[in-house]
Amino acid sequence: MISHSPKLLDKNKPLAVKPGRTINKVGIIGAGQMGGGIAHVVALAGYKVALNDLKPEYYDKGIELISKNMARQIAKGIIKDEDKDEALKRITFAPSMEAFGDCDLVIEAATENEELKHKIFAALCPHLKPSAILASNTSSISITRLAATTDRPEDFIGMHFMNPVPLMELVELIRGIATEDETFATARAFVESLKKTTAVSEDFPAFIVNRILLPMLNEAVYTLYEGVGTVEAIDKAMKLGAHHPMGPFELADFIGLDTCLSVMQVLYEGLSDSKYRPCPLLVKYVEAGWLGRKTKRGFYDYRGEKPVPTR
Ligand code: NAD
Repeated sequence: MISHSPKLLDKNKPLAVKPGRTINKVGIIGAGQMGGGIAHVVALAGYKVALNDLKPEYYDKGIELISKNMARQIAKGIIKDEDKDEALKRITFAPSMEAFGDCDLVIEAATENEELKHKIFAALCPHLKPSAILASNTSSISITRLAATTDRPEDFIGMHFMNPVPLMELVELIRGIATEDETFATARAFVESLKKTTAVSEDFPAFIVNRILLPMLNEAVYTLYEGVGTVEAIDKAMKLGAHHPMGPFELADFIGLDTCLSVMQVLYEGLSDSKYRPCPLLVKYVEAGWLGRKTKRGFYDYRGEKPVPTR
C-alpha cells in the first residue's frame, strides 16, 4: 500500500541518481494492467511518464483504470484529490518509440512474449538517449537474453513489479550477466523512491516469486483437470485451509491466464523438467481466449454481478 504523499518529495531535486545521470522522465511500454499500474505509482512519486500502447484506445483504457484506482486511494485517505490531478497531468501518451527520446528510464511492460519484446527493443533502442536505462517487467523471460538483443546490455535490468502495482510492496530486481553495478544501484534507488521494497533474484526462469507461485497455480489446474475438486472447492480449500487471501483460480484469473501459461512454458523449456509441464486445461482456456478478468471470462465468468465458476 502506498503510505506516502507525493507532496513529501522535493520536486526540485533529482529523484534517483546514477552518477552523472538523473531520472526525471520514465517511459512505459504497454498500458495494460501492469504498465498502467507502474505509470500510476511512478507518476504519483513525482516523475513525468510517457506511456505507450499499440492503439490510443488502449492508452485511454489504461488512463481510465489509473484514474479509477487513484479515486479508490482518495476514498481510503491514502492520497489527496490534488495528488491525483497532478499525477494524471504528468502522464502523456507516447504514440511511437520516438516519444521515448527524452526518457531517462524506459520500462517495458508489454505482453509476455519473448519475440514481441525483442521487436519492441529493436524499434526502441535507436531513439533512446545514450544514458537511458532500459528495464523489463517480464515475469519469467531471461534478462540476459533480452538484454543481449539491445544496444545496452550493461544498462539493462529486470524490474519485476507485482500485481496490483499500487498495493504490492515488492519489486524483484534481476541483473543480467552484463548489468553494471551503477545501473543496478540506480534501479534500486528508483524503486525505493516509489516506496517499494526490492528483493534481488538471480537471472533464472521466472525468478523467485513466479518460480514458486506459478507451479502452484498450474497444480491447481491439474487438480481441477483430474477431477479432484471443482473450481469452487479448490479455491475454498486453499483460502480456508492454507490461509491464502485468494484461491488459486481467483489469482490465476487476476494475473491473466495467458501470462500464467507463458510463465509455465518458460519454466518448462528453461529448466527442462517435466514437473513444470503446463496443464492442458490451462492451454485450452488460453486457446479459447478466456484469459481471466481482463477478458471477463476465465476459470470464473465475470460478465454478471457475481463471478460464476466456468467448471
Ligand atoms: P496485459 O495483457 O494486461 O497488457 C499488455 C499490454 O501490452 C496490452 O495493453 C497490449 O496492447 C500491450 N502491447 C502488446 N504489444 C505491444 C507493443 N508491441 N507495443 C506496445 N504495447 C504492446 O498484460 P500485463 O498483465 O500487464 O503483463 C505485461 C507484462 O508484465 C508481461 O511481461 C507480464 O509477464 C508482466 N507481469 C504481469 C503480472 C501480472 O500479474 N499480470 C505481474 C508481473 C509482471
